[in-house]
Amino acid sequence: MARMNPDQFWESVQPIPNIMPIMKSPADSPAASEAAVAGGDAGVFVEALRREAARIGFSRLGIAPAGPPRRQDLVRRWLERGFAGVMQSWFERQESLRSDPASLLSGVRSVIMLATDHATGATTDATDTGLAGEGRGRVARYAWGDDYHDLLRGRVNALGAWLESQLPGCRTRGVVDSAPLAEREFAWLAGLGWFGKNTMLIDPRAGSFFFLTALLTDLELPADTPIEVDHCGTCTACLDACPTGAIVEPRVLDANRCISALTIEDHGPIATDLRPGMQDWIFGCDICQEVCPWNRHAPGSTEPTLQPRDGLAAPSLAELLQLDDAAFRRQFKGSPLWRAKRRGLLRSAAIALGNRPHAASFDALAASLVDEEPVVRGAAAWALGRWRRIDVLAERANAALVTRRAIEDDAEVRVEIERALA
Ligand code: SF4
Ligand code: SF4
Repeated sequence: MARMNPDQFWESVQPIPNIMPIMKSPADSPAASEAAVAGGDAGVFVEALRREAARIGFSRLGIAPAGPPRRQDLVRRWLERGFAGVMQSWFERQESLRSDPASLLSGVRSVIMLATDHATGATTDATDTGLAGEGRGRVARYAWGDDYHDLLRGRVNALGAWLESQLPGCRTRGVVDSAPLAEREFAWLAGLGWFGKNTMLIDPRAGSFFFLTALLTDLELPADTPIEVDHCGTCTACLDACPTGAIVEPRVLDANRCISALTIEDHGPIATDLRPGMQDWIFGCDICQEVCPWNRHAPGSTEPTLQPRDGLAAPSLAELLQLDDAAFRRQFKGSPLWRAKRRGLLRSAAIALGNRPHAASFDALAASLVDEEPVVRGAAAWALGRWRRIDVLAERANAALVTRRAIEDDAEVRVEIERALA
């Protein structure tokens, strides 16, 4: 479908139910809610819980019952189709645990889901083509600042401690996307959004640029209502915009093709047919969220640790390619980019230069042909092959490849070099 203008989009979506703001401003007196808790008024207690979550820094809160996830069959079919990419065996091992939150907290009865907005409002200095500046790569928004795990772990533990202080004897466990829990499923059940065709959970008032955190408890709390309406309507902007065809049908993602999975989780060679679609993305990909009309009014975050580190929104590709192990550790310790590992990040930087040749980055790219990591050497060879073909410093690219071919002893890299010279 052609991209719609905003008016067409708003007409195409189904009406939004009258959803109450999830966070209320702290107006009621704490004494009143404490009395209500003591008196067993669950509704008033939940309002006190919402206020405390807001005070700690969470953007929204919803509550889901801790039963087995309703969409478990969809996940199973997704796994059967082999769509989890390099995470396939991890997901298969975790599947039974993910379907039962009691594997994380025995006797759990409620899952408190917490959203934290992370869009900082900063830009990548992208050109009107949406690409980063010459010689630069793009990084998904959520990764521009510090690693969010410490921040969210501290917050969810603080909320758990508050809950346990309010109702001594209750038990809680905080989960920040590292334990086997179907967070998006529970967040949907908790009313925090609906599943968009891009597979993201979308809040009708806040879009999809938010983190999810879960607080499990053995308390039985009143559950919120899931959003059952499909607010995507006839829009297909995310499917149309995905450069690698990773959204194979609405709400079905093939992680084998998704730039986000490839650049973050997969640290090996990337299939050659997918490399051109990666454009200049070197860590994650925001395309299917950036084109989503529901993100036009995504609330920003002023949280200091989530603000972009210097240059991280659009780092210099040549500088990345020159990082040795020690420099990588210094630059990315405490950043989400750490997860890509040096070899994954430099491999992606080389591919980005293959897609967008930049003459001033030639020396760094050619030097990557002697990198200690075969996957980096292979990606550099592929990139220089592209430079040859489109005639950007073609003779120098050719000479660098020929020189390396004479001494390369890794079989896969030799194949990359031969292909680049073909
Ligand atoms: Fe496609 Fe990028 Fe979205 Fe993955 S993150 S589905 S590659 S647009
Ligand atoms: Fe739904 Fe995708 Fe359109 Fe967003 S861009 S409204 S997720 S179809």
